[in-house]
Amino acid sequence: MAKVFVIVGPAGVGKGTLVRGLRERMPELVLAVSATTRQPRPGEVDGVDYHFLSPTEFTDRVAAGAFVEHARYAGNCYGTLRAELDRHLAAGASVLLEIELQGARQVRAVLPDSVAVFIAPPSKEALAARLRGRGTDGPAQIDARLRAADDELAARGEFAHVVINDRLDHAIGALEAIVRAESGPPRTL
Ligand code: ADP
Ligand code: 5GP
Repeated sequence: MAKVFVIVGPAGVGKGTLVRGLRERMPELVLAVSATTRQPRPGEVDGVDYHFLSPTEFTDRVAAGAFVEHARYAGNCYGTLRAELDRHLAAGASVLLEIELQGARQVRAVLPDSVAVFIAPPSKEALAARLRGRGTDGPAQIDARLRAADDELAARGEFAHVVINDRLDHAIGALEAIVRAESGPPRTL
């Protein structure tokens, strides 16, 4: 059965890294490409990392009902495109959504069969160190993400599945175990 898995947690906690590791072990999982109004970072490719939209394009798509969920985060808009999700589910593929908290709450409301996994850092200090160490964001962007992280970390109790991303291989294993258990038994002929 194709399922939607929501990977949620503060920026810098390692969601992208964990999803990459998970997909190496379970290549049948598809990662949905989100839309955002944020500027591409060096090396990011439109249509691959995100669908990069202007604020007007984003607002038009919201009005057209094109998003399953959307949220403002650290000064930009982010959203999961309904067409992107439907396309993969129709093809029978389970889909990973790597999104922030407000979006995860919306998905929980509109797709009650989805499975959310909250990714927690070993500590707030480790989170800050990872955000700085990643080297992709300037000081203002890092501050905005750390401010948002306080609310996100406080929401951990809302989620039945929590994975602490301390040692990466352990965390990938824990995530894989959840996804396999929630995917049900393997299909037989
Ligand atoms: P997110 O997608 O949640 O914003 P990333 O996957 O980009 O986070 O990870 C943020 C930074 O933390 C990256 O530099 C990544 O290499 C590093 N990182 C991820 N997981 C771990 C871990 N378990 N231990 C140490 N560093 C990690
Ligand atoms: P970044 O700008 O660092 O790529 O992403 C910032 C935050 O937005 C991250 O927590 C990321 O998971 C989240 N995000 C990415 N795509 C979406 C989306 O489609 N919807 C929502 N709600 N959040 C998203």
